[in-house]
Amino acid sequence: MGKRWIGIDLGGTSMKLGLVDSHGNTVLEMEKPTLAQEGVDGVIGRMVSHARELAKEAGLRWADVAGVGVGLPGFLDVKAGVVKQLTNLGWHEEVPIRRLLEEAWQIPVKIDNDANVAALGEAWCGAGAGVDDVVCITLGTGVGGGLILDGQLLHGRYGFAGEVGHMTIDPEGHPCNCGMRGCLETISSATGMVRMANEAIAAGRSTVLADVEKVGTKEIFAAAAAGDAVALEVKKRAIDALAQAMSALSVVLNPARFIIGGGVSYAGEALIQPLREAYAKRTQPNARQGVDVVLAQLGNRAGYIGAAGLLARERK
Ligand SMILES: [Zn+2]
Repeated sequence: MGKRWIGIDLGGTSMKLGLVDSHGNTVLEMEKPTLAQEGVDGVIGRMVSHARELAKEAGLRWADVAGVGVGLPGFLDVKAGVVKQLTNLGWHEEVPIRRLLEEAWQIPVKIDNDANVAALGEAWCGAGAGVDDVVCITLGTGVGGGLILDGQLLHGRYGFAGEVGHMTIDPEGHPCNCGMRGCLETISSATGMVRMANEAIAAGRSTVLADVEKVGTKEIFAAAAAGDAVALEVKKRAIDALAQAMSALSVVLNPARFIIGGGVSYAGEALIQPLREAYAKRTQPNARQGVDVVLAQLGNRAGYIGAAGLLARERK
């Protein structure tokens, strides 16, 4: 039997754990509640015991696990293995998480942020397989991203590299959670699209969305497909903003492929096809030559697969 790694994708409400082989194939996965209210020690203790449980259920001895990678939703010092802040878990103090986990497990541990591990998962064995230069963009409640160039995940000085959601699209635009205005996230996230639709409804614009109980991106894409003017405008604005960001990323980074994931990407071709057109129209011809724009393939497994890949890919 070849080596096995464990990846953990820690979220605010649940943690996903997966045991993977050296090709990123999942051997066994499990999902457990995070129970963030139990505090730092409680959550770390649960990660420690659930990982051991996973190995045991797969019929492995703990010594057969080569290492554990962990994706975390917040600000980290990746190189030091330290959490600076995980706001949605209520961790506001520094936590030397890598050291704590290595002491508990006695095997190597690596950490990275959730967007980076999801990008790495897709690049390794999802929609980016076989390509060395990939930009992943996740359209969900916010807009996340990860950059893999020459096969390497980029971090930059403080690990902020890949935060494509905070590229400024409209300096006079809507305030963003980050303190700036008009970031990509304020326009092309599910939250941004729903806000723009609700603004049009509040302004008295005629739209079928006014009669929808709760507007989400699914309703917006459906209304756009039926020719609703407001929905078409919101969709166009979201896609144009994303294409503008991708255009800038192309001339700076020259990726071979953009991978679009997250909840909004479930719109599928209704999103990707107009995005390809808007991107082609806006982007310098040499920079866009041969560039693919594709949907993510791994869904919510990308996080733990990429987390395991933090260590598993090293050994190749
Ligand atoms: Zn921002």
